[in-house]
Amino acid sequence: MLGASAVLLAAVALVEVPPPGRELLIVLALGAVLTATYFAIQAQRRWRQALQQAHTFQAQAQALEHALARKRYAQNLLLDGLPIPLILCERDSTLRYANQTALEWFGFREVRGKSLLALTLCYDLYRFFQQGVRRAAQLTCPLTLNFPHERHVMASVWPIMDENGTELFALILLDRTELVRIEQVRRDFVANVSHEFRTPLASIRSLAETIQEDPTMPAETRTRFLTMIVQEVERMARIAEDLLTLSHAESLPPRRELVDLVPLVRQAVQQVQAEAQAHGVQIETELPERLTLLAQRDQMVQVVLNLLTNAIRYNQPNGHVWVRAFQRAASAMSDSADQSVASDRSEVVLEVQDTGIGIPSEDLPRIFERFYRVDKTRSRETGGTGLGLSIVKHIVEAHGGRVEVESEYRVGSTFRVILPAPPQATPESHG
Ligand code: ADP
Repeated sequence: MLGASAVLLAAVALVEVPPPGRELLIVLALGAVLTATYFAIQAQRRWRQALQQAHTFQAQAQALEHALARKRYAQNLLLDGLPIPLILCERDSTLRYANQTALEWFGFREVRGKSLLALTLCYDLYRFFQQGVRRAAQLTCPLTLNFPHERHVMASVWPIMDENGTELFALILLDRTELVRIEQVRRDFVANVSHEFRTPLASIRSLAETIQEDPTMPAETRTRFLTMIVQEVERMARIAEDLLTLSHAESLPPRRELVDLVPLVRQAVQQVQAEAQAHGVQIETELPERLTLLAQRDQMVQVVLNLLTNAIRYNQPNGHVWVRAFQRAASAMSDSADQSVASDRSEVVLEVQDTGIGIPSEDLPRIFERFYRVDKTRSRETGGTGLGLSIVKHIVEAHGGRVEVESEYRVGSTFRVILPAPPQATPESHG
């Protein structure tokens, strides 16, 4: 504008104004043009600087945004990778966030906007959360969730702030289902052991008191009562012995050595031969020349003896027992996750088959439990403790093997112990 006015002034001076005023006006016009140019250059420079600053701010803002996004991503990775359910809720229990484990637990994909009750279907947890909100402090409480299946948890809730300063509440659920189960097993075991000892003790006491209170008791009756007392004491001793065996098997890993199963089985068969004859049961063996195993010898003897005595005691008169041992390629049922590896491996199989009373199918899943008996009276009569099969299972699993059973009620049973063969052993034929 100033430049244009100066040019106009210079043109007017040239045409209209006589010298010397003309020169003065031209000089003034030139001065105005120079001043205008100077200001224009200055303004342009400032504009460029401002533009540059704006670019720098924009780049900084973008870098900050990326850094924030990276931080949020790392946080989410950390929280989602946590094997514990973590949930963030607003005061009114509206969900803000649930990590991957929480989503998996409750079978949801997205939880934003839903309520804690809708997610967990657990009113106790909802009430516990409300309590945490009221107290605005960390609270912890054991709870049981029933959806989608029963879980015993230790729930903790505490207040936190989000990035905008809004109050939220964090909730975590520590799974203690396995601990509760183990505790229940322990309690049941103690109750069972007390019961197992209390029953013979009660009968010993009453028999002893009867003898004590009746000095005129015929000698024959007295002898019968004393025999019964001795039998009960022997039963208690057997239970104590089996409990000790079980406890040893549980507390120590087996001290393995190279064992030939064949002479070990033959020796066990010899040991139970008298009992088998007393029951009218015939034992047959189908064994290879040699079958090596990496195992703790005395524990393997225990396994064979327990299976053999059961096969004799739960048999019928004129019954049969077959004992087989052989080596085979590891079956697809092997626990190994890598089947290609499993097929390269061999396993040693010990099979005890009988023509006995069999086991009803509803009892089959429970026979390896401690003190579980299908027929209590028969087990008692045959001197059973209810611990034989749990000892077998424990020993075999501690050796990296498994026990299988097939049984038909009133037809017979087959118990199969499957153990990994030592790596260097070569398969030997069956029979
Ligand atoms: P027990 O000392 O009573 O024999 P076990 O733990 O050895 O205890 O066996 C548990 C139960 O399984 C037995 O009480 C019996 O009912 C059943 N059982 C075990 N082996 C056989 C078998 N060979 N035939 C039929 N029933 C069996």
